[in-house]
Amino acid sequence: MASIKVKNITRYFGTQKILDNISLDIEDGEILGIVGPSGCGKTTLLRIIAGLDRDFSGQIYFNKINVTKLPPFDRNISMVFQNYALYPHIDVERNIAFPLDIKKYTKNKVDEEVKQTTEILNADIEKYLSFLPKQLSEGHKQTTAVGRSIIKKKMNVLLMDEPLSNLDAKVRSQSRHRIKKLIQSLSNTVIYVTANGLEAMALCDRIAVLLNKKIVQTGSPKNLYSDPENLFIFQLFSKFLINQISGIIEKSNFIRNDNVLKIPYKVTYPFEVIMGIREEDISLSNKNEKFLNEKVLIEGKLIEKRTIPPHINLKLEINFGEILVATMDKKAEDFKLGDSIKLYIDIDKIFFFDKANKKRIRI
Ligand code: ATP
Repeated sequence: MASIKVKNITRYFGTQKILDNISLDIEDGEILGIVGPSGCGKTTLLRIIAGLDRDFSGQIYFNKINVTKLPPFDRNISMVFQNYALYPHIDVERNIAFPLDIKKYTKNKVDEEVKQTTEILNADIEKYLSFLPKQLSEGHKQTTAVGRSIIKKKMNVLLMDEPLSNLDAKVRSQSRHRIKKLIQSLSNTVIYVTANGLEAMALCDRIAVLLNKKIVQTGSPKNLYSDPENLFIFQLFSKFLINQISGIIEKSNFIRNDNVLKIPYKVTYPFEVIMGIREEDISLSNKNEKFLNEKVLIEGKLIEKRTIPPHINLKLEINFGEILVATMDKKAEDFKLGDSIKLYIDIDKIFFFDKANKKRIRI
């Protein structure tokens, strides 16, 4: 276990800057997620921390010791690669045991550690120990790769590069629960890279968002969900789709095509915005009349309805265009196309973003 400090990392590939002055502090034992869109440099940053990429400027510290010039072997790290990087010619057991085999542990010790590791993995991988990687499903390849990364119990940091990205949705969701339990039980420092915001929220103590070569926001899952810096982060950490409605804010009004929505803000000059509302943040009932002035009421006509239990997804035509709702309110079961429906939205669940640069506007 170690605290990790990433200091002023800049990386070019040729003339193209990939990472621009990245700094991060990761506490000893913390599970930090690095989240960003495909190609934003997540793997590159992980490889730099691992010591696999040495062509950058900046420094890396483990427990306040500068390891920038140390090769990977001397950093005492483990890594799960996105494509698993299993050795094709040896079976699952030897793949899992590999970090101990190369250290020339005794056979008994290795057997014992493999047994313990397969128990910790809590999957049915022990049935496949004699299989070659090409005989495995994607899920079992992933389990083997994770097994290999955790067999060496005492490590400074476990680096996981999108370990679930090759799995289909159902296996992915099961594996997410398993990985969460596993990394929590390890009490190790973990850096978990993913493009999936919900996965990061489910697994990590804290998340850093990498976008346009920089870390644009760092915080707890709750913090990123409720207080996103920009439209990308708002979308990334939403359970369902988001409603994006373009318009103008002027005084205490959001205006689109002559339609006006009263909002509790006052701006002195008008500017173009995107109003963002999460599907899951729209209610069909106003449970507490007392707080009516803290809610926005929108009325619309139902034009589409789909049920994917436990949610009912609605599409309504409103003055401003269309709005999507994901609800678990039983009331929606009786709605019919053409019905006029009232929607209530908490004021603090309505987000505004500058249309030009997509940054959050905190009025
Ligand atoms: P993904 O989520 O798709 O795996 P990522 O966020 O991990 O992507 P990287 O793999 O770090 O992104 O790549 C970042 C950028 O650097 C990409 O534009 C990629 O094409 C480029 N890149 C990565 N490795 C090299 C290389 N060896 N030579 C040139 N360009 C590279």
